[in-house]
Amino acid sequence: MSLSKSPTHIVVFGRPGSGKSSLAERLCQERGFKLIRTGELLRAAVRRDDYLGRRVSDHLANGTLVPDRLILELLVDSLQAPGSERLLFDGFPRTVGQIPLLAQFERDLGFHIECYLDIHVSRAEAESRMTGRRVCPVCGATYHVKADPPRVPEHCDHDHARLEGRKDDRLEVVRVRQDLYDQHTQPIVDHYRTHAPDRFVVVEGDNSPSPDFIYAETVRKLHFDQLGATS
Ligand code: AMP
Repeated sequence: MSLSKSPTHIVVFGRPGSGKSSLAERLCQERGFKLIRTGELLRAAVRRDDYLGRRVSDHLANGTLVPDRLILELLVDSLQAPGSERLLFDGFPRTVGQIPLLAQFERDLGFHIECYLDIHVSRAEAESRMTGRRVCPVCGATYHVKADPPRVPEHCDHDHARLEGRKDDRLEVVRVRQDLYDQHTQPIVDHYRTHAPDRFVVVEGDNSPSPDFIYAETVRKLHFDQLGATS
């Protein structure tokens, strides 16, 4: 469905490879949301090597989920007095146990999630997108074997270096990340689809011609006008 007015607080969902993160960044840049991305906040804590960072670093290194009580601690620090800021959550809630945490923040800090946005891409499509990514080890240019191929297969257009896949785009790793999404995040998406159908918006990512198209579809369904202001 589409919303009747543009939301000020959004949670975005999408499996790895859906393009959710780039879309979230663009919504923040162009529509003035503050991005609350738990993965990035956790990485920053590890870089600072503070008390929280030291307790989550093994989870980040192994790709396992950080326990809910530590996510609570992280967000209590990051969400103090959000005031009138528009917030866009990316990566939270990530387990069913974090659903009541979000509700608690809404009550305590006085905001209301007005939209749960699901960038829907099938698992097969997401796996093909991720395993097809290639990067040039010399200049960093990125390609996709199907969607954005180099002129000469597997070689960079700029310096002819042999392209490489990223370590975390190997099929075994991709499958683990997709399994985690199916196991932990899909039930959350299903929860909001059932419990908040009037605030639940799906944008279909399969067979969409480009990220620009998905962005435009999101803007339309979220009722943002085309010029950047919100209605
Ligand atoms: P991401 O960049 O969103 O893939 O997150 C990187 C890592 O941070 C994940 O593999 C988890 O270890 C951890 N993480 C991020 N968000 C959460 C969350 N809401 N709950 C538990 N762990 C999280």
